[in-house]
Amino acid sequence: MNYYLGVDLGGTDIKIGITGNRGDIHTKQSFPTNAESDADTLVNHFGKCIQKVIKISGIKKEDIKGVGIGSPGLVNPETGQVKYVVNIQTLNDCYLAPAIEKIIGIPVFIDNDANAMTLGEFHFGAALGYKNIIAMTVGTGIGGGLIFNGQLYRGSTFSAGELGHITIESNGIQCNCGNYGCVERYVGREGIVNRFNTYLKQKKMKSTINKFLDNGEITPKAISMAARAGDKLSNLVMKETGTYLGIALASYVNILNPEIIVIGGGIANAGDLLLKPAKKEMMKRAYPLPARKVKIVRAKLRNDAGIIGSASIAVNSLK
Ligand SMILES: [Zn+2]
Repeated sequence: MNYYLGVDLGGTDIKIGITGNRGDIHTKQSFPTNAESDADTLVNHFGKCIQKVIKISGIKKEDIKGVGIGSPGLVNPETGQVKYVVNIQTLNDCYLAPAIEKIIGIPVFIDNDANAMTLGEFHFGAALGYKNIIAMTVGTGIGGGLIFNGQLYRGSTFSAGELGHITIESNGIQCNCGNYGCVERYVGREGIVNRFNTYLKQKKMKSTINKFLDNGEITPKAISMAARAGDKLSNLVMKETGTYLGIALASYVNILNPEIIVIGGGIANAGDLLLKPAKKEMMKRAYPLPARKVKIVRAKLRNDAGIIGSASIAVNSLK
């Protein structure tokens, strides 16, 4: 039996899990990242955490064929170097994959978390069996990954797949990336909540949102729950969000002609509230043949998507 180990690296937690041949989770555990430590301390800490998970799993080290690290930010998968991670800045320029490989004695591979999610869906999720794939995560921001002819496409500086930063409004809201009107500003968490609050203040429509607050807060989850219960304003906001997403999807479809677009992340939990208007808008705007052919589906990997995706980096590198 072959096993793979996935490390889902985040600014607060590092989630580590061992998966079997079918992407099933055998053992998993979370640890604090200790993001404020220096790079050497972090490398040792991560190495120890991995060794601890292997020990509690009872799996022999030789049966773990590879380790995949899904990292936020910009990484070089060829050298294993982390180039820039905003929330763990001491790791910037660190050759993380080779350093951990030296500690644990198992091949270690690294890629960014959006590519990890994409590979997870490709090997074990909704995109299994497809060759031309776009995967996107919609949450606080929008990340994405591209697979063509069964191969991950990373671009010439490893920054391909920035699906959230396609312009959908020429004079739109300014984005953290410096551009104006990026789709992320409209379909990401903040865009949805801000639009809802603006409409609520304008008082053109009443809302029952107070019954659905998420720990006292208006969140995309609260808005989609209210929409499902028939709240008109929430329905309007979700429909608009889907329409904005559809504008971006039309561009992806026209440029890349994928077989399938897999959409994951917290906001995708809205399901058809988001995807139905998105598909409708995409059909209106994209070339008819590729638009009719493309499947737009929700991601299959949910709670453990980060771990399974990260392990998939190793699966994909060793295939
Ligand atoms: Zn942007």
